[in-house]
Amino acid sequence: MTLLQVQSFAAGEWVGLGRAARPVADASTGEVFASCGHDGLDFGLMRDFAVTRGGPALRAMGFHDRARMLKALATWLNERREGLYRLSYRTGATLADSKIDIDGGIGTMFVIASKGRREMPDGDIYLDGGTEMLSRRGTFVGQHVCTPLRGVAVHINAFNFPVWGMLEKLAPTLLAGMPAIVKPATDSAYLAEAAVRLILDSGILPEGALQLVSGGTGDLLDRLGAQDVVSFTGSAATALKLKSSTSLLENAVRFVAEQDSLNATILGPDAAPGSPEFDLFVKEVHREMIAKAGQKCTAIRRILIPEIHAQALIEAVSDRLASTRIGAPEREGVQMGALISQAQRQDVLDRAAILGREAERVFGSPDAFDVEGADATRGAFLPPMLFHCAEPDRASRVHDTEAFGPVATVMGYRDLGHACELANRGGGSLVLSLVTQDAQVARSVTLESGAWHGRIYINNRASMKESTGHGSPLPHMVHGGPGRAGGGEELGGVRGVLHYMQRTAVQGSPDLLTGIVGQWVEGAARPETDTHPFTRVYDDLQIGDTHVTEPRTVTMEDIEHFAEFTGDRFYAHMDEDAAARNPFFPGRVAHGYLILSFAAGLFVEPSEGPVLANTGLENLRFLKPLSPGAAIRAHLTVKRKTRRTDTYGEVRWNVEVTDGEGEAVAAYELLTMVAYRADR
Ligand code: NAP
Repeated sequence: MTLLQVQSFAAGEWVGLGRAARPVADASTGEVFASCGHDGLDFGLMRDFAVTRGGPALRAMGFHDRARMLKALATWLNERREGLYRLSYRTGATLADSKIDIDGGIGTMFVIASKGRREMPDGDIYLDGGTEMLSRRGTFVGQHVCTPLRGVAVHINAFNFPVWGMLEKLAPTLLAGMPAIVKPATDSAYLAEAAVRLILDSGILPEGALQLVSGGTGDLLDRLGAQDVVSFTGSAATALKLKSSTSLLENAVRFVAEQDSLNATILGPDAAPGSPEFDLFVKEVHREMIAKAGQKCTAIRRILIPEIHAQALIEAVSDRLASTRIGAPEREGVQMGALISQAQRQDVLDRAAILGREAERVFGSPDAFDVEGADATRGAFLPPMLFHCAEPDRASRVHDTEAFGPVATVMGYRDLGHACELANRGGGSLVLSLVTQDAQVARSVTLESGAWHGRIYINNRASMKESTGHGSPLPHMVHGGPGRAGGGEELGGVRGVLHYMQRTAVQGSPDLLTGIVGQWVEGAARPETDTHPFTRVYDDLQIGDTHVTEPRTVTMEDIEHFAEFTGDRFYAHMDEDAAARNPFFPGRVAHGYLILSFAAGLFVEPSEGPVLANTGLENLRFLKPLSPGAAIRAHLTVKRKTRRTDTYGEVRWNVEVTDGEGEAVAAYELLTMVAYRADR
């Protein structure tokens, strides 16, 4: 049989295997079907290629262009994922497991693309926070900005999610504007390689944006410097070895680590057998044990339950485990496939033996279990194994030994404080889950355990139908954890993109900052334009362009009319004495919403024109009470422009409403959709 050649993609070329290539076996048949590795890639050339080709090409695009590129790529992969599913069976994954990996990875790319469009500017500088006033008169201000790092991101991934693990790192990296060199784990590199081939075949990425190392990293890490990033996912032991390398330390190379984790789940003291919460807990534990044959960094390893319910839980979970169908992953009805390799199977058995010194195995024997449609000895199969640790306080290995397979340990707790203490003994985890109906229990766990866990997942009968699962990292929420979990933090929307950018505090005059960041900064020039801004198309509006309206006097009749018309008869507008007793008002004052409405009346251009819609206003502040008799004006300044569709973009206006003394009474940002020039 011809072996599948798992190649590398270096400096724009697919590179064949060398003598150092390693055989790779099918997880459930044991058949060697692939070969992965290389005799020595030119890692210096690869880094140069990324930095001189990929980086500049990506940086020539803005965030929105790159977000559109990611969306196109996710769409492309989505339409071609069937082939990946077929290959994924080779990893021992069932179709449901493959969907977590493949659909989950593509879905993550879609979300990061959409976050890029919605939450990052239509430009090339990301603003971190608002403008800081650094001087009394506002002539010297500060702004934190983020720009893409100039090096390459090296992604070293674990074997268990070859597609998700790659895409969840790749999407934020490319969105930031940085090229990547991806190194998948050898045991499942064939699936990552297939996904990379699809990506490259699409022609969507610029040259140099993505390279692949199938096999070892050679001297790649020694070649990295201050503008490079290593983003690692895998075991704590490998992470320690890599991040303590002298060259990475000497060159201050950024190192993001996502490691293994002794995740826990707590059944709240309020949930007893017979309650929907107890059933939900059992279901969640069962699912976490068998999904991906327990080879998930987020899987539940420690099950914390009120002592009095421990036996009931063991029985309920064991019942479910007993009916779990194990076997060839492509076989209809099989719920749990094989582990990735015989070596991994042995590793899990070794670690289960360590757990066995402190806990009793109450379900699952590796020597006696049924396997459907496959040879149990040739494939890397294991049954789910449930342990019970009767003395979790005195035990230590149950809190620090990760058996990366279908293995979990039940521990009884005395009270909630004890449950949190046990959960925290994992030394830092990716996720802690809690099933409770009681908000006070949820609050206590958040306060007592938040510092030790990257994510807290809380579930009960109200959320169970829509909840996403203990073990599912979501692109919107951070994935990572302190201590044992590596101290890293990926995803979390734009947060994950910032790993690949440098934050810089820029200080200067408002005009200079406006020029740098491409949006109007408070205090910068506001040149007044002759034509009404609402008569001008998107393309003709310049950042800073300002329109000042005619004045309008607000009378007592206006205030009373507005009160009657809207029903807002709050005493500050209607009762002179009561208003004067209030510490905020000099006497009766105009409604804030009246000021807004009059402002709109002052600046709106009634005839049909390029302004298509007003989609909202943000950051509204009423700054000074307005007494009847005062004349207001509105000052509209083009603050930011963002392309939205092929025909229109969003214009964000800074609006300031002033009184007769020229002091601001209200300020806000108005959002409008404005048509592009027809012949653009
Ligand atoms: P691993 O043995 O630590 O390997 C992880 C990656 O590091 C692989 O790509 C491996 O490549 C590479 N590697 C190993 N030694 C290296 C070296 N000296 N130089 C450069 N690269 C090196 O972990 P694994 O067995 O693949 O994955 C299982 C572990 O990952 C579990 O402990 C699990 O908890 C953890 N994990 C964590 C997360 C998370 O997000 N926190 C996610 C998934 C998995 P080779 O395969 O070629 O050796």
